[in-house]
Amino acid sequence: MKALRRFTVRAHLPQRLEALERLSVNLRWSWDKPTQDLFASIDPELWGHVEADPVALLGAVSPKRLDELAVDDSFLSRLDHLAADLDDYLQRPMWYQERIAAGEELPTGIAYFSMEFGVAEVLPNYSGGLGILAGDHLKSASDLGLPLIAVGLYYRSGYFRQSLTADGWQHENYPSLDPQGLPLRLLTDEDGEPVLVRLAMPDSAELNARVWVAQVGRIPLLLLDSDTPETDHELRGVTDRLYGGDQEHRIQQEILAGIGGVRAIRAFTRVESLPEPQVFHMNEGHAGFLGIERIRELVTDGGLDFDTALAVVRSSTVFTTHTPVPAGIDRFPVDLVEQYFGAPSDEPSGADSELLPGLPLERIVAFGAEDDPSKFNMAYMGLRLAQRANGVSLLHGRVSRGMFNELWNGFDTEEVPIGSITNGVHAPTWAAPQWVQLGRELIGSDDLGSLSEPDTWQRLQQVDPGHLWWIRCELRKLLIDDVRARLRKSCLERGASDAELGWIAKAFDPDVLTIGFARRVPTYKRLTLMLRDPDRLEQLLLDEKRPVQLIVAGKSHPADDGGKALIQQVVRFADRPDVRHRIAFLPDYDMSMARLLYWGCDVWLNNPLRPLEACGTSGMKSALNGGLNLSIRDGWWDEWYDGENGWEIPTADGLADETRRDDLEAAALYDLIANSVTTKFYDRDAQGVPTRWVEMVRHTLQSLGPKVLASRMVRDYTEQYYAPAARSLHRTIEAVDGVPFGAARDLAAYRRRAEEAWPRIQITDVDSYGLPDTPLLGSELTLTATVDLAGLAPDEVVVEAVIGRVDTTDALLEPTTVQMAHTGSGDGGSETFSTTTPLPVAGPVGYTVRVLPHHPLLAAADELGLVTLA
Ligand SMILES: *Cc1c(COP(=O)(O)O)cnc(C)c1O
Repeated sequence: MKALRRFTVRAHLPQRLEALERLSVNLRWSWDKPTQDLFASIDPELWGHVEADPVALLGAVSPKRLDELAVDDSFLSRLDHLAADLDDYLQRPMWYQERIAAGEELPTGIAYFSMEFGVAEVLPNYSGGLGILAGDHLKSASDLGLPLIAVGLYYRSGYFRQSLTADGWQHENYPSLDPQGLPLRLLTDEDGEPVLVRLAMPDSAELNARVWVAQVGRIPLLLLDSDTPETDHELRGVTDRLYGGDQEHRIQQEILAGIGGVRAIRAFTRVESLPEPQVFHMNEGHAGFLGIERIRELVTDGGLDFDTALAVVRSSTVFTTHTPVPAGIDRFPVDLVEQYFGAPSDEPSGADSELLPGLPLERIVAFGAEDDPSKFNMAYMGLRLAQRANGVSLLHGRVSRGMFNELWNGFDTEEVPIGSITNGVHAPTWAAPQWVQLGRELIGSDDLGSLSEPDTWQRLQQVDPGHLWWIRCELRKLLIDDVRARLRKSCLERGASDAELGWIAKAFDPDVLTIGFARRVPTYKRLTLMLRDPDRLEQLLLDEKRPVQLIVAGKSHPADDGGKALIQQVVRFADRPDVRHRIAFLPDYDMSMARLLYWGCDVWLNNPLRPLEACGTSGMKSALNGGLNLSIRDGWWDEWYDGENGWEIPTADGLADETRRDDLEAAALYDLIANSVTTKFYDRDAQGVPTRWVEMVRHTLQSLGPKVLASRMVRDYTEQYYAPAARSLHRTIEAVDGVPFGAARDLAAYRRRAEEAWPRIQITDVDSYGLPDTPLLGSELTLTATVDLAGLAPDEVVVEAVIGRVDTTDALLEPTTVQMAHTGSGDGGSETFSTTTPLPVAGPVGYTVRVLPHHPLLAAADELGLVTLA
């Protein structure tokens, strides 16, 4: 059946109300409560009906009502005030401008690429955490004034909407979204014609995409849409859905996002007269082809050779990895990559790529090479194209260094140059208005900029426990109302009649300890761990004195029947008449449901298989609302759990037997709930306030509040990644002796020579002198190494002594490295290096010597993955 095509007619606003249009299309309203209140006041009933969507509201409100408002002085003064406030927000100097004014060298533009963006529920362009994180990144970048341009795809059906069948099986729906009904504008050129991004596809086909622009506060978000009349019919569906199709569909999407994304940015900056981005940030490897397109630009438009172009691209690219498991990495069959990036079929093999003229296919394929010669690895490509890379929590950084160690063969895991920046969440989006209000009162201003200061959060010390508890109770009540409404809707969808649903009015209790568990449903998140011992769970739910209630939600990937079976297990349990008033599975987890869950749940449960949760952010959003985390120490919780701000579920990681591991961890979970969580919650003072609980809430807000913020995250990215990348770019593109890009050419030439020489570099001799017969800690040791540099100059390498305690397997533990000085040249190109150093540790000591590349434009000596060991 052919899907119905919808279109939307936007209302004609009276002139006096024109500012409403601007307020409705800038998504800043989604984190600005006064603007939301203004829209709601236009027609409160309609506002509920259109699910708080300003564009839809303006499309549906009656002209009569608009005429009334156009002469309503109080409405008009609020409107004018909020329109002026938006203008001020868009223009005033923010943190970024202040840093520049203080003399800091920061990029004039940053491009941020992601396959999904969860900005607001009206733009359902996300499936889960990765997208929400990208959305929060943009909002905080806006609040901080970063000159960032974001790029992704416009999915006609977004991700799917989830419902349940009568027997609890997930059902997917793909509503078709009309861009005209969304807060988007079409990017047009100087003549008012839609800008088209063009990509050559195999068999002389052409993929064209229009570019929709969403305005996220100060940040433009460009979304490419292949569904245009100019695109060949078979290719129009490239952007039909998020994570929908087969490998071929997926590579087409990633080619469009990466290569098309760069082209969209070029068109956008030209039309809008904006500076070109200097730094390119890949949020996960999906958009990694952007780096190859930038090489093509420098080769075909800039006349650089491939290696010089690569040096420029690498210096200015940041890659963030989000998965701690090899199975989570995007990999394509090499054949498929060759098909898309190869020469036209009537050309000889070895000819230039048609999609990327000027680039040889073999160089492109080499970026994704891995152990399995039939696979093209997108994460490897990201790491090879980016001089700087990071994971998304301290633990995930460590795991990533291990996972990608093979790209830095010969280096210890700790040396792999992948850092970490722990994710964060956008407070104005996720904190309940009650908390924001309290924050304003404590700060004494509407400007919440000081939220990143720990001192600001210490002011919560002044707040009466009764007041903190009152906010928690208000938020729980709101949640229970929402849960009942959603439960009713779901039961009706599943075939129940109204007459059977009387119980829902009393289901869930605003006074009962409420635990939330909502997330996507991949196996590692263990949706059903709580069901491990159903009798034990039932006891907890139905306990007479200290009951708990559980709200569960989450979508399974449409192709993952295993995940759907887990959902069904929960639904079946929750359907049981004896427990259904205390546990529910709510279908269609999305931002609007999520928000109320984070506000209202007392406890946020997370029980992944450690260390498979790269970071996790839902627990941060809960913490920001005074929710207490009850979690396995994985992702961010491993880093910031302090013994008082929630509970740690002991993990049995390392146990090979998964069944036993689940048994142990589930038992620990039940025990914690029964013996610690519920006792604290139900232990009340004379006023009915659980004082010990409230102190944990207060401590959670104080200790985690300043840390979990996306503004902290974006500042960290700016200082630790964007600014250094811009400085690297600056130095790399410098002319040398009048030759443009001379520094990059020099680096590329050095890299070629180093890679060529490296296999022949040898440490031919290592000697030690000077130690007394019984060496003591601090005794001086002199080391000398003779090295054959295979044609490289002594100042083109670093020679290091690595000294440390040795264990029984002769491995060096926590070694110290000491750089050795060049001390002489011998016959036949052999060079000597030496150092004198005090022994750094006591006990059995060992040492070795290694040679590494050295060039001023390398971010680190291990960057090229070249090392020679003695
Ligand atoms: C925050 C959020 C997520 C991510 O939560 P995790 O803790 O990473 O699982 C997923 N979906 C929605 C709607 C969210 O708001």
